[in-house]
Amino acid sequence: MAEEKTVLIVEDEKNIVDILRFNLQKEHYRTCEAYDGEDGLGKARAEKPDLILLDVMLPKMNGFDVCKALRDEGDNVPIIILTAREEEEDKVKGLETGADDYITKPFSMRELIARVGANIRRTAMAAPAAAAAADSAMPVAGDLSINTDSHQVFRSGKAIDLTQREYELLTFLASHPNKVYSRVDLMEQVWNYGYVGDDVRTVDVTVRRLREKIEENPASPQFILTRRGAGYYFAVS
Ligand code: CA
Repeated sequence: MAEEKTVLIVEDEKNIVDILRFNLQKEHYRTCEAYDGEDGLGKARAEKPDLILLDVMLPKMNGFDVCKALRDEGDNVPIIILTAREEEEDKVKGLETGADDYITKPFSMRELIARVGANIRRTAMAAPAAAAAADSAMPVAGDLSINTDSHQVFRSGKAIDLTQREYELLTFLASHPNKVYSRVDLMEQVWNYGYVGDDVRTVDVTVRRLREKIEENPASPQFILTRRGAGYYFAVS
């Protein structure tokens, strides 16, 4: 029996919390709940959940600010933002504040459970290793190197702080140099679920964030390049 995983639900609508709790517990997750942003942030720090389901519109502190606060503290817990369907901008904004994923309301419980599982599995595979020295990192291209034991990325020997998803996108592309992947391919390979539609914007936002962190000049990238109309690739000359 696998170790029980904890999901923190931060949501002010009690009926949504109830149905999430019920379904997650049925899938053998432990749950804890917070009904406003401040309490959500406090419980995230205190309970160290394996995943957070985070509503956007919350009393006291909104979901974006909760997400940003956790990332600023270096907490890389997987976060799935719950947004209302009409709030398209929320998706992009959520990812920009460091969320791993979003799901739109009203959501299918099956889809939500699948996303929770996919996001927790990714993190489990990337179990935190002891911090390794930069000199044991494998060079990838130019002055960029990746230590796949410690899951750290270095630029000129200096550690770069990436979210789990950014790290996985980078290592996936870097392990298939010069091969072009469409956004749909990347959704399947890196995000672990096969879905299409406008959600492929998730890939664009994550690529942009990754470039801002690893590229000298994000507007003129040298590592992660765009093949117009086809997708993205990791360039190695
Ligand atoms: Ca709400």
